[in-house]
Amino acid sequence: MVKFRFAPSPTGHLHAGNARLAVVNALAARAMGGTLLLRIDDTDRERSKPEYEAGIEQDLRWLGIGWDEMARQSDRMDRYAAAAERLKAAGLLYPCFESEEELAAKRALRAKRHLPPVYDRAMLSLTAEQRAAAEAGGKRPYFRFKLSDGAVAWNDLVLGRREVALGTVSDPVLIRADGTPLYTFTSVVDDLELGVTHVIRGEDHVTNTAVQIDLMRALEPRRAVPAFGHLPLISDVTGEKLSKRAGSVSVRQFRRDGIEAMALVSYLARLGSRRDPEPLTLEELAGTFDLGDFSRGAPRFDPKQLLALNRRVLHGLPFEAVAERLPEGCGAEFWMAVRGNLDLL
Ligand code: GLU
Repeated sequence: MVKFRFAPSPTGHLHAGNARLAVVNALAARAMGGTLLLRIDDTDRERSKPEYEAGIEQDLRWLGIGWDEMARQSDRMDRYAAAAERLKAAGLLYPCFESEEELAAKRALRAKRHLPPVYDRAMLSLTAEQRAAAEAGGKRPYFRFKLSDGAVAWNDLVLGRREVALGTVSDPVLIRADGTPLYTFTSVVDDLELGVTHVIRGEDHVTNTAVQIDLMRALEPRRAVPAFGHLPLISDVTGEKLSKRAGSVSVRQFRRDGIEAMALVSYLARLGSRRDPEPLTLEELAGTFDLGDFSRGAPRFDPKQLLALNRRVLHGLPFEAVAERLPEGCGAEFWMAVRGNLDLL
């Protein structure tokens, strides 16, 4: 049984980039007869808001995307604490005391020597006495995971074979000094424990994937790691990163502007793939869905194309599908007469 997941952080409204990942994961799950887990990544207490979480669920429902299972990271803190203890016992999670300033100074020194800005693991040789002295002085440790030597490779479902040399990456911080776990860690524990088989996310997570595969192998050496696929991030028509203007491309803004859910879903489902956008239901989109259709280049989000698709959706809608949203007194005859001329309802 395959399981995909969509894992938004409730730190803002659902925007086009994230909505696309929701659409792609939902379609992939349907196409393979699997399930979809909605995971709320709310470990960042300050930035996560219940109203954003509710908004994300509302937007997904409006898009017609359902989920078979839901998990909230803030409900699973005991699981992360247990996994952290296992890593500590294996000597793979070590306490660190360097401040941001000290780390910055080390990076600057390495830059002068033309070395990559990788953490030097100085704290690996910390003795119990040194640790006790630091804690007596009022410091509390944060914890880093000791990455393996060598490289991590995987066959990316979108990008093809990928390999990352772990020596080029700093040992990641998994637990903050206040004891709270970080995304890199919580995501791995969840993907393992909740039985996720496919992780499809943005290309910005490629380095994370190498680290997370290494972490998965440390936690569950006998378990197969999930398959990974990374979609190139969407840019706007000028080639700029789309997320910079997230406010103008939120799902709720499209809805307020009068874009039909079907148009947005159909557009996002085919964006960056070799297939042209056409107005289709989720069921129909799933029938033709193939991750192998996505290209390795960054697709451009073009509002004009979205509007053109919206027009096509409206032109095909029967009266019953819009009756509730029409002004009073507009009957079927009226709808059939005007629908061919509309850009937005
Ligand atoms: N909450 C993470 C994000 O939105 C999830 C990334 C992932 O899919 O692992 O970037």
